[in-house]
Amino acid sequence: MSQPKFNKAHFEAALTRQWQHLGFSAAQEMNPHQWWQAVSGALAELLAAQPIVKAPKKQRHVNYISMEFLVGRLTGNNLLNLGWYQGVSDLLADYQINLSELLEEEVDPALGNGGLGRLAACFLDSMATVGQSAMGYGLNYQYGLFRQSFNDGHQHEAPDDWHRASYPWFRHNAALDVDVAIGGKVIKDDQGQPHWQPEFVMRGEAWDLPVIGYQNGVVQPLRLWQATHVHPFDFELFNEGQFLQAEQQGIDAAKLTKVLYPNDNHQQGKRLRLMQQYFQCACSVGDILRRHHQAGRKITELADYEVIQLNDTHPTIAIPEMLRILLDEHQLSWKEAWAITSHVFAYTNHTLMPEALERWDEKLVRGLLPRHFMIIKEINRRFKKQVDKQWPGDEAVWNKLAIVHDKQVRMANLCVVSGFAVNGVAALHSELVVKDLFPEYHLLWPNKFHNVTNGITPRRWLKQCNPALASLIDETLNVEWVNNLDALKGLEAFADDQAFRQRYRQIKHDNKQRLANWIKQHTGIAVNPEAMFDIQIKRLHEYKRQHLGLLHVLHCYRQLRDNPQQETVPRVFLFGAKAAPGYYLAKNIIYAINKVAEKINNDPLVGDRLKVVFIPDYRITAAEMMIPAADLSEQISTAGYEASGTGNMKLALNGALTIGTLDGANVEIAEQVGEENIFIFGKTVDEVKALKAKGYDPVKLRKKDKHLDTLLKEMEKGFFSDGDKHAFDLLLNSLTKGGDPWLVLADFADYCAAQKRVEALWLDKEAWTRAAILNTARTGMFSSDRSIRDYQSRIWQAKR
Ligand SMILES: *Cc1c(COP(=O)(O)O)cnc(C)c1O
Repeated sequence: MSQPKFNKAHFEAALTRQWQHLGFSAAQEMNPHQWWQAVSGALAELLAAQPIVKAPKKQRHVNYISMEFLVGRLTGNNLLNLGWYQGVSDLLADYQINLSELLEEEVDPALGNGGLGRLAACFLDSMATVGQSAMGYGLNYQYGLFRQSFNDGHQHEAPDDWHRASYPWFRHNAALDVDVAIGGKVIKDDQGQPHWQPEFVMRGEAWDLPVIGYQNGVVQPLRLWQATHVHPFDFELFNEGQFLQAEQQGIDAAKLTKVLYPNDNHQQGKRLRLMQQYFQCACSVGDILRRHHQAGRKITELADYEVIQLNDTHPTIAIPEMLRILLDEHQLSWKEAWAITSHVFAYTNHTLMPEALERWDEKLVRGLLPRHFMIIKEINRRFKKQVDKQWPGDEAVWNKLAIVHDKQVRMANLCVVSGFAVNGVAALHSELVVKDLFPEYHLLWPNKFHNVTNGITPRRWLKQCNPALASLIDETLNVEWVNNLDALKGLEAFADDQAFRQRYRQIKHDNKQRLANWIKQHTGIAVNPEAMFDIQIKRLHEYKRQHLGLLHVLHCYRQLRDNPQQETVPRVFLFGAKAAPGYYLAKNIIYAINKVAEKINNDPLVGDRLKVVFIPDYRITAAEMMIPAADLSEQISTAGYEASGTGNMKLALNGALTIGTLDGANVEIAEQVGEENIFIFGKTVDEVKALKAKGYDPVKLRKKDKHLDTLLKEMEKGFFSDGDKHAFDLLLNSLTKGGDPWLVLADFADYCAAQKRVEALWLDKEAWTRAAILNTARTGMFSSDRSIRDYQSRIWQAKR
């Protein structure tokens, strides 16, 4: 495979067409945003004109269906993957345009919540790069995840209209429109054959974003469906002059892809969400089958050519949709249809938490999708026979394994029963999937279960976001590491090299200075780049324990006041997190962090030694700025609840040392970097279980720990909230009377002890830098290229 060469004349001609199209008579008339628009449009146009290089043959094509793709800004990333960055940069310099400033004009397409959506984006990048033929399928939301700002410390949410209609990277292919039916009823004909008579038809429009492999010429689409109405008007009403009513049906269809649900690791059970899921699945399955038929292949060969990977259970309804088409439209027998379907679908589990496992009310499913519900019940009925054989008369087992149970449809169960593979996303998590979540399924089908540890793309998460470190690595190793991240091992030899350490440290310092400038400009807070940058960035959730981080901030502040003369390690605590709008406890934690920050940042006694900054609107672009500037990476979830984490990988790769629990991929990071280069603390999965079983009383614990009690009392007394004693009620109640379900208090002392070890190492600058270099050198296995190769060998291309 060869990469397309940058052609200056072609690019300039395309650029000219762009500004002419925008209505200008000279390029110089454009404002900065229009420059971004024109340059991106020109690139998209050239790319569309390239002969498509297909990833190679002889492998099953992967259809990666995900409700979220958190792709981040595309223009810079696409330039980098094309290998055109320098060429375009030089050309624009002729117009006195600075490319990196121009790239700042792009608004993040915020089509995801957090880790799950970002994982999907990293996987697309890696599939194109390693030559796995693939398509991403998702939804084209008009409003992405809300924009966050703070209003007296409270989270404020504003709609995120990211202007999909004028996003230059989209290509709408009208030939690929899919019609999707919904609602109605099923009637049986004389032969007893069911016929679905839907109530509405909606249309899915295919909006494609290009996914570009790393300098290998591969371009494959991320296809995002956008809902619209089939007929612009009801013509009868229109002719009667009732224009508004005539439009009504169209308005309703278009509602479907208006908004992304802002929940992460939590399901709401809303009707519109189920409609979104079904709409996406019907469009995607329709498209997959259309391509299959167009290639001249038989329907019975589908599993030889196609895999459908379900990113969590959100697209599960694709399974009954596939069966419906095979049964009702292709008139296959159940046996034939099942043989195909059960070899096509594979499911990735992302959580063990009950509140995140999707269940839908039977009534809702039956109302919207009567035929699909019949099919789900038939899967359930046939599966019951198998369970009865294995566990005769054991009702308890059936109650666990049933797909339809207690008037609810359990999507994870449907996936496990119907798919050929199930995987967890880190070694520990995959073990718990088998041991705790699906032990009986594992007994039935031991070979169905796999681990594929998550990964991150080194293109965006090192080369693009940390160009100085990338250059240092280029220069030092003189090998292509960007698509062969194991090559970073070569840096181990330089961990003891004084000169190399000095340069590595300088790069971190420059990155911190850049972040400090941004913070000053956007929040007015001055932070000292010599201080340790201690960073916790991720969605706000109790299991992730930002409140444990907060308690440690309080601890540091208390110590400063108790011993004002004592030498301390200066720290800047940086938080970044959005809370789901309906998750009040999470929002209270944000408020608490902001109020504590306000107090500390304005206390003259503290000065430069302690600063706390909550960076608003955490998103990919913020992550790209914060990660290269991090010294310490906070990965402090309650053990057993963070399935993998990927923020932990990004930070370690960029030379932040991790303080973390033995949870998710932290376990594997520790194995890779070595226990002397990471700070592990806290209860293990087994200890968490044991403590809960024994009965845990945080109020008792608090009474015994005077220091902890002092910290909590200060919050309760309104010290951080202008005397308001109830400002943090939600948070404080959950930590005490509420039983502290995430064991924040139980892990607090050990956490502080680990933080002390952090400070001891920090004081030895050379030793710290050495450990940081070893983190970069030893985290090559967390490239998502490796994840994709694992999917290929264990699941997608495994011998059947
Ligand atoms: C990587 C990433 C995440 C996931 O972070 P975790 O710490 O693994 O939860 C969430 N949001 C954004 C914007 C990211 O880049």
